[in-house]
Amino acid sequence: MYEEGGWKLNPVTEQGDPTNTDAANYEVAFGAPKGFTVITSGTDVGQTDESGSMVVHHSVTALARNFVVVASDRYEQVSGQVGETQVSSYYLPDDAKGGQAALDTTLKSLDIFGEAFGQYPYTELDVTQVVLGGGAAGMEATGLIMIGKDLYGGEGRDPLGEAGGLFGGAGGADALAFTTAHEVAHQWWYSVVGSDAYEQPWLDESLTNWSSAFYVDEALGPEAGRLARDLFIGLGYRVVLAEGDQRLDQPVDKFDSQAYGGIVYGKGALMYDVLRAELGDQKFFEFLRRYYREQQFDRADSDEWLRTLNAVAGKDMTPFYQKWVEGAEIQPANLPPAGPLGEMLSRLESALPEGSSAP
Ligand SMILES: [Zn+2]
Repeated sequence: MYEEGGWKLNPVTEQGDPTNTDAANYEVAFGAPKGFTVITSGTDVGQTDESGSMVVHHSVTALARNFVVVASDRYEQVSGQVGETQVSSYYLPDDAKGGQAALDTTLKSLDIFGEAFGQYPYTELDVTQVVLGGGAAGMEATGLIMIGKDLYGGEGRDPLGEAGGLFGGAGGADALAFTTAHEVAHQWWYSVVGSDAYEQPWLDESLTNWSSAFYVDEALGPEAGRLARDLFIGLGYRVVLAEGDQRLDQPVDKFDSQAYGGIVYGKGALMYDVLRAELGDQKFFEFLRRYYREQQFDRADSDEWLRTLNAVAGKDMTPFYQKWVEGAEIQPANLPPAGPLGEMLSRLESALPEGSSAP
């Protein structure tokens, strides 16, 4: 990003997004071996054959945060459509069930997020099964999301296993669905509403992870939503809280990897549940819609986030902000009630002798 007369070059860190970019238009030509399925984050506008074994692919995209290419000579594909948006899911041959599940989650979450936050502005969204390192379950790009290969589960995919029949809402434990919805939500919080992924990772990741839990609420019901919060949001934060709270508004490299997950993806996501309860649904979703509309294709910062919140709430939300974003004094008692798994864990914790560490 270029601002105030210079390039803003954030360090590449071991966790978090590696780049920080403004929305831009791309026109790209690149060569790839013949016989490869080539998926770009843009729209393919044709191919030219320039030599024997290579094909030149031409692609364009508008108002994108980045341009990404994923390719394989083994991909299979299923497609669907939501409104004007064409969605395709690319998966490896043994993972047809996971490929279909990733497509279904993407279609449903586009619908749910479009209704709740504002319209998805791009004409395509591709979901790709890739090998991801560094502990990441998924990775977002504008118009293209990447999901870790191992989440697809192979031919015997049954994400719930034996547990599936044991209690209601078990669908909330499906990591492929939660991760896919998370990466789809990044189209709103990252791609359309940009932010500084190094200095203020909470601005996109906390809201994105909350959006994924919201997807589970809406698509699979509140019981599933509670279990998803336990597993993918609350657990990591409760583990960090056992050692003491940390500020949410820190740069990526101020967190160790456990705290980065627990605070940015846990505490920050739970904060949105607390905010929703405090404002009521009407004002809460008005806040998200207004933030989306006013910051689109721009870069939001924490001041703009709070200003928008104040305007919609009709009162000064600084005390809330100081408590949840700038503060480091949250206690387990301040958290929304846990679901079935969280309750079990807190019973376990209180049964442990004083001074022993939480599981
Ligand atoms: Zn994310």
